[in-house]
Amino acid sequence: MSATVPPKGCLTDAQLAELAAAAPGRAPEALARHLTSCDRCQARALFGSERAAGGPRKPIPQPPTLGRALLLAGLLLGAMGAFFWSVLKLAGR
Ligand SMILES: [Zn+2]
Repeated sequence: MSATVPPKGCLTDAQLAELAAAAPGRAPEALARHLTSCDRCQARALFGSERAAGGPRKPIPQPPTLGRALLLAGLLLGAMGAFFWSVLKLAGR
């Protein structure tokens, strides 16, 4: 089927490229067999290279500034005040 030598260790970059270029179901069996059993080569095939442990991290969201937090608190208290004022009006007091 294929003249590719069965890999003893992990796949080379050229072998990974050969796998990626192969039509579905037509990949060299020895390479595909190694790929199914090797996490390292799967990661290399999927992501191009080995990723550092943990992978990329999302940046931690920054807390709002003090001014914005006070503005939000003021709007919240204002909305609550308007609500209770309208409740008192509806209650006829
Ligand atoms: Zn491998």
